[in-house]
Amino acid sequence: MGAKPFMTINSMHGDRTSLIEMHKLWSDCHECKLGTTATCHVLGRGEFPCEVIFIGEGPGQSEDATGYPFVGKAGKLLDHWIGNARYTNPFSYAVTNLVACRPTDEEGRNRPPSADEIYHCQPRLSHFIEMCCADGVVLLGRVAQVQVPWLQKNFSELRLLYLPHPAYVLRLGGKKSDASGKAIRDLRSFIELIGKPDER
Ligand code: SF4
Repeated sequence: MGAKPFMTINSMHGDRTSLIEMHKLWSDCHECKLGTTATCHVLGRGEFPCEVIFIGEGPGQSEDATGYPFVGKAGKLLDHWIGNARYTNPFSYAVTNLVACRPTDEEGRNRPPSADEIYHCQPRLSHFIEMCCADGVVLLGRVAQVQVPWLQKNFSELRLLYLPHPAYVLRLGGKKSDASGKAIRDLRSFIELIGKPDER
């Protein structure tokens, strides 16, 4: 059990102590039963602080094995979207999930996290969001999108974007699909938006 060292410090503003404290606090959490069945706690990857946080549902088999979120085929597609968007408008980012430990069904296959598991992991996700001091959050997939009211209530200053889950877009044809092209365009527009003053 435990968690891998999970973020790189953004050299201008990063606070190493906060990062170590966060790692200590959550890498051995057992607030829900997933903490006892997962191989490790997958806390996140990316830079801290950062401008944008990408939030998926929960770690899958590859993530559970490596300790990092979005490292399988879906993760490569997400990196493709981010790389394309950063090419025209560079931004810093971090990646995490609604739950830090892999949810599995009775046969040991990946499954979406339950509402109860998501609820129990909200303090860990709150800590992650606070630590990143981001301007925007990108929710990946329908399960993550359900968290919009919670985010709006607790982080009203954040701008939100919803994108389909990369695993779903893989089933539509991956990089060459219309859905993938649209995800890149939406992400580019979102990055432009968060660079502007908030007039809501
Ligand atoms: S999923 Fe979240 S709440 Fe559940 S044990 Fe892991 S870190 Fe703790």
